[in-house]
Amino acid sequence: MSASAEPSIFSRIVAREIPATILAETERVIAIADIAPKAPVHILVVPKTEQYANVTELAAGDPGLLAEVVAVSNQLAAEHSDGDFRLIFNSGPGAGQTVFHVHAHVLAWPGG
Ligand code: C5P
Repeated sequence: MSASAEPSIFSRIVAREIPATILAETERVIAIADIAPKAPVHILVVPKTEQYANVTELAAGDPGLLAEVVAVSNQLAAEHSDGDFRLIFNSGPGAGQTVFHVHAHVLAWPGG
């Protein structure tokens, strides 16, 4: 868990305490449909641990887990679109980050 006492919204989704459309799950990663999609395909790929607040911390602390996030993102883009995708990590409130449990936004536009 992060410094805050409460589990993050994504940890609560991992624990099935709140609903989400789960699109993929591995031992260490979960992928859900974003509830407020910004593209025809908008998927969040989230490490199950909330130990890392942002991608910089994840890259430094567990590069293998970051690589798994990228691999799962690639697989989902192939399944839900034509394989091309934009991968975004908002990092910090000034960049629009609202959930401080690292997550990748996978955005894709089927058919271009
Ligand atoms: O990068 P940022 O922290 O702003 O992204 C959080 C994302 O989590 C938002 O795109 C928001 O729509 C999504 N979200 C969600 N399901 C929730 C809460 C937030 O898909 N229950």
